[in-house]
Amino acid sequence: MRVPKTQRRFCKNCNKHTEHKVTIYKKSKERKTNEGRRRYDRKKKGYGSQPKEIFRKNAKINKKSQPIFQCTECNKKWYGKAHRAKRYELIET
Ligand SMILES: [Zn+2]
Repeated sequence: MRVPKTQRRFCKNCNKHTEHKVTIYKKSKERKTNEGRRRYDRKKKGYGSQPKEIFRKNAKINKKSQPIFQCTECNKKWYGKAHRAKRYELIET
């Protein structure tokens, strides 16, 4: 899927159509310090089996890609609809 880098969209903050810069959402890196991670590490410590099954039966081929639209006037970010596509790239217009 090819998405133009700049789009004219409606900004709810400005209450009008403005130019928006498009970027693709990237999952933030998992931190070692979050609560779930700490609990999981504690459970895995010592003897015993894997506390939570490791997900392996993935039926989906493509990952979801979500665009983020940033208003060039007020710099507010709007999250667009995510799509499943093999390739999700931004193109110059
Ligand atoms: Zn705006």
